[in-house]
Amino acid sequence: MKRNLLFIDDESEILENYKAFFQEHMDRDKRQSKELSSQVELIDNFFVYTSLSGEGGLSLVRKKKEEGDCIHVCFVDLKMSSGISGYEVVKSIHDIDSKIEIVVVTAHFDKVIEKIFKSTRQREKFLYLKKPFHRFEIIQLARNLSEKYFNNEIRDSFISNVSHELKTPLSSILGFYQLIEDSGSVSEDGKEFLKIIGKNARLMNSLVQDLITSVELNKNEIVLRKDNLDVNEFLKDTYLIAVPIAKEKLNINYQLSLCDKSENFIIDEARLRNCLVNLINNALKFTEVGHVKVFCKITKGEVLITVADTGIGIEKDKLDYIFEHFSRVENEHHEKPGLGLGLNIAKQIVDAHGGRIEVKSKFGEGSEFTIILPKNSG
Ligand code: ADP
Repeated sequence: MKRNLLFIDDESEILENYKAFFQEHMDRDKRQSKELSSQVELIDNFFVYTSLSGEGGLSLVRKKKEEGDCIHVCFVDLKMSSGISGYEVVKSIHDIDSKIEIVVVTAHFDKVIEKIFKSTRQREKFLYLKKPFHRFEIIQLARNLSEKYFNNEIRDSFISNVSHELKTPLSSILGFYQLIEDSGSVSEDGKEFLKIIGKNARLMNSLVQDLITSVELNKNEIVLRKDNLDVNEFLKDTYLIAVPIAKEKLNINYQLSLCDKSENFIIDEARLRNCLVNLINNALKFTEVGHVKVFCKITKGEVLITVADTGIGIEKDKLDYIFEHFSRVENEHHEKPGLGLGLNIAKQIVDAHGGRIEVKSKFGEGSEFTIILPKNSG
């Protein structure tokens, strides 16, 4: 399989070295395969692209994508003497194509690397390679990361196919459930059973929808359809969605406090509602006693929507990775339903609005998730 590698470094000598490593490696590979059999089959089929500047690297990544081809692994020198910084390069590559595996090459593990981890909240996406390195390290990284790239593609297309296949029978279950409920010709016992069917079918539907959205986000296929909305109206409608779930939690006080003086903001209503519902559902899921409060604050430039609970809380060292793909905190509450996708999706949608999600939590006491959006995100 063809593996496209891109090296970005401001020293031409280093770039020449990279090219030579891979050429030598593939020549040796070819010789060895020839000795073993008459049919030559290359283990590694690397295509090495290089760029002396961040700008050049980014335009190559864009060009490849436009051509329907792509860069699989990119090695970025963090300290470049001119043009855009290594940090900007890494962030922009991630924005252009979040599937690209990125290796940050540097002589020091410095603050910039932490900044990259923090700003993208996707630690697993970036590897860090400390200079000086052995050429085999580069070859191994190129091989393993391109393999990871292809495996992710297979995973995503599998998830996407399975979830679309599940969606059709599920819609039919939900449709007929609604018809029976509306008919009113069900016994008291039947009504109870029907309620359980409805609840589970809706849960399954939202898990399947999360899987579909997550794959779309991975492929950068999300297009926001923004509208100008009143913040308080948006909050009231969203709050009501979770009322039936909250009613089942008898020891929780589920409350909404609207903004003192409502204003408008420009958002993709359906997607942002989904994010907020995810936060509220989590709060209700991980709280048994106390309250789940939704409240809002509008500052000069931002709208802050908070969901606060008095639930199990999250340990400090786990806070950094709860926003990662498929991440769930290992604890005695692990049996609660979920795929570990909700927060990752919420973060990506809020990011796409130019906002951020902040979290504060005390283990055993409760958590507070705040969606912060710029007022003029349109
Ligand atoms: P899940 O489908 O597992 O809820 P999420 O991405 O929404 O996935 O959340 C990831 C993990 O973060 C959860 O499994 C849970 O461990 C933790 N978490 C999220 N919200 C809360 C909360 N309000 N209180 C405690 N833990 C939470």
